[in-house]
Amino acid sequence: MQKNFDVIIIGAGAAGLMCGIEAGKRNKKVLIIEHTSKIAEKIRISGGGRCNFTNLYSNNENFLSKNNHFCKSAFSKYTQNDFINLFKKHKIDFHEKKLGQLFCNNSAKDIIEMLINECEMQNVKIKIDTKVKSIVRKGNLYTLKTANENFLCSSLVIATGGLSIPKIGASDFGYKIANQFDLKVTKLYPALVPLTFQDNTLEFCKSLAGISVEATVKINKTIFNEGLIFTHRGISGPSILQISSYWKPGNEIEVNLSPQNSMDEILKERRKKTPKQNISNVISDFLPNKLALAITNLLNTKQKIGEASNETLNKISDFINKLRVLPTGTEGYKTAEVTLGGIDTSEIDSSTMECKKYSGLYFIGEVIDVTGHLGGHNFQWAWSSGYAAGQNV
Ligand SMILES: Cc1cc2nc3c(=O)[nH]c(=O)nc-3n(C[C@H](O)[C@H](O)[C@H](O)COP(=O)(O)OP(=O)(O)OC[C@H]3O[C@@H](n4cnc5c(N)ncnc54)[C@H](O)[C@@H]3O)c2cc1C
Repeated sequence: MQKNFDVIIIGAGAAGLMCGIEAGKRNKKVLIIEHTSKIAEKIRISGGGRCNFTNLYSNNENFLSKNNHFCKSAFSKYTQNDFINLFKKHKIDFHEKKLGQLFCNNSAKDIIEMLINECEMQNVKIKIDTKVKSIVRKGNLYTLKTANENFLCSSLVIATGGLSIPKIGASDFGYKIANQFDLKVTKLYPALVPLTFQDNTLEFCKSLAGISVEATVKINKTIFNEGLIFTHRGISGPSILQISSYWKPGNEIEVNLSPQNSMDEILKERRKKTPKQNISNVISDFLPNKLALAITNLLNTKQKIGEASNETLNKISDFINKLRVLPTGTEGYKTAEVTLGGIDTSEIDSSTMECKKYSGLYFIGEVIDVTGHLGGHNFQWAWSSGYAAGQNV
């Protein structure tokens, strides 16, 4: 048996649900197909359960893409304020944590409930536990086969997201469909992901697992200044997740563990003023005790500061202010928040999200080569691209 819809969306995540709602408002008969038993799982687990659902300052500068201007059109159609207004309509309370990042006061589940309510209001059908086995395009129509039913639609939207966190439903479906239709896909990498090390650096990180500092991290001209935390596998925290999107194997990262302080000047001054103090005690005025001790152990500088040569103090200040580290890898898609890369933006119309080569075929959200910084930008892209397609399907 074959069921007909105007619009079929594959993937019931942030982008797919937004697209469904908007298409529904235009009286389109909409079906959303989800292959897992739960919709919008990434919304549920995001932002520590409170979902950092947008960012007040989101703009194309917060995104990595082969074409950094591609996202502008969708952002101008549906802004942060539009999503905030949806929140207000549903009386969901939220707050700004820092740097324009907006979070739910209560729970990310409030957003999922809001999206489900909106889908119901617009008569959008959602089918869970359903796997699409094949897609065939004939004329301007798309036929989808699942285990039990066939579906026909004139607009097919691929909203299956990226590869991160496979255990909650991530799949390579969108990229495979791109392949089937001979669309270019840029190289894919795990991004917003902790970095890993081996050998001595790993041992150093392991011994400090759980210790955090405010740090500046830098690759070439890209720089982030946020928290850094040592882990059992290497380093993580917001600054590291951010820089990971710019990191490629073989790249060194410059880390400043105490960006507010010029340790070179401070150590030399303290050598004069408090020569009897142990170096580690001096450093622990600026860094956590355990880190200060680990640094002096590693550099073999356990003496009193008054006995330290310029060379010794330079070695310490370089370690703190200009540490260069060479990660051996990342924790991969198992823990990455997003996938860097995706459907090449040159294949897609930036104002409608429709594929340039195939009318009626759309891609939205993370599956496209548009990857946001940490801080609510990725969800804003999901809302905006979902909205843009929703106006056109
Ligand atoms: C742990 C974590 C925390 C995050 N926190 C934030 C945050 O606070 N703020 C922020 O902006 N971003 C955050 N992100 C990123 C954000 O979740 C994603 O960028 C966003 O969800 C992408 O939306 P999407 O709709 O494109 O894809 P998704 O939300 O991934 O939705 C895709 C949907 O498609 C389904 N699907 C996949 N394959 C198939 C298939 N073959 N058939 C049918 N359905 C399929 C999936 O099960 C899923 O439901 C976080 C990500 C993770 C992993």
